[in-house]
Amino acid sequence: MDTVRLNQRLADVVPYDPKYLPADCMLSANESPYNIPDDIRYEIRKKLKRLDFNRYPDPLANELRDLIAAANGLERENVLVGNGGDEILFNTALAFGGPGKKFLNTSPTFSVYTANAFLTGTEVVDIPRLDDYRVDELGILTRVAEGDIDYIILTSPNNPTGQLVSETFIRHLLESTDALVMVDEAYGEFSRMTCRPLLGLHKNLVILRTFSKAFSCAGVRLGYLLGDADVISEYLKVRQPYSVDAVSQLIGCTVYENRQLFSPAIQDIIAERGRMMEELQTIEGIKAYPSDANFILVRMDDADVAWQQLYDQGILVRDFSHTPLLENCLRLTVGTPKENKALLKALKRIARTRRRDEGND
Ligand SMILES: *Cc1c(COP(=O)(O)O)cnc(C)c1O
Repeated sequence: MDTVRLNQRLADVVPYDPKYLPADCMLSANESPYNIPDDIRYEIRKKLKRLDFNRYPDPLANELRDLIAAANGLERENVLVGNGGDEILFNTALAFGGPGKKFLNTSPTFSVYTANAFLTGTEVVDIPRLDDYRVDELGILTRVAEGDIDYIILTSPNNPTGQLVSETFIRHLLESTDALVMVDEAYGEFSRMTCRPLLGLHKNLVILRTFSKAFSCAGVRLGYLLGDADVISEYLKVRQPYSVDAVSQLIGCTVYENRQLFSPAIQDIIAERGRMMEELQTIEGIKAYPSDANFILVRMDDADVAWQQLYDQGILVRDFSHTPLLENCLRLTVGTPKENKALLKALKRIARTRRRDEGND
């Protein structure tokens, strides 16, 4: 056959492409600018030498599950480990979505949520964020009161806009609905806030976390979910048995046992975020949105032109300028002090040139 029967449902689907281009300053993917500490790398190397590569891994990564459970005052049954948070997000749509099911989204937010809903035939009910990108609390509660929402994802802090969701609102929402409420805390370590205290009080709450951001392991693919044992069981029904490989499990355990070694880097990034925010606010023509994550969203005229100018100077940031509700926005990941300085210098130069060009008109 020189033809193949394609699935029409996928005709308009565009594969995820983060457009990672090579650059001196990689400030586009919200990764940590720091590799994992040398001591941890040395320990991983030692353990790798003894790994039985010929054996299948523990399907549920129970050793890592136990470490995460203990640190959170929970049991193994309350923890699910995934191949990145992304796998857990997909499994959420598989387990709680599907044809005839509804997912409540709060755009603009992480685009993976709606992509997963589409792939699983789940209807998306969108309650857009307000002008300052805070969630529309009243809008969500009103919509949820109709009683037909199956799952909700609240990103706190939100990607790509940076705001936290208030704990009071989350508590209120959890009491108002039996829908699964996922709080995506991928950037939680940079915010000093977590919904962990609400677990155990609300069966319909799950919390998503990842090793990819604060724990410098984006290359490893590890994320985890905290929740009620009955909810975790639903995930076990849909997950791929060996999605978390043995090497990742080994790295995850070593990183998690030594996670206090990441505190200085997290503190540095939080401090740098504050410094960047202060400086951004002094640049004419740039609006910077307050952030509790390791990135800052900025808005400026002709942001796509600025993106190219930054890239020409070796600085890669994330261009959202043509994304609905994020028109003319760029997302700047907080990098090393040196990278942030280069970025601020370049942005100031762009602003200065624009002012001068206006003066000549
Ligand atoms: C990065 C991120 C994740 C998880 O990413 P993984 O690398 O798959 O663990 C989840 N949610 C949001 C909002 C993110 O930005």
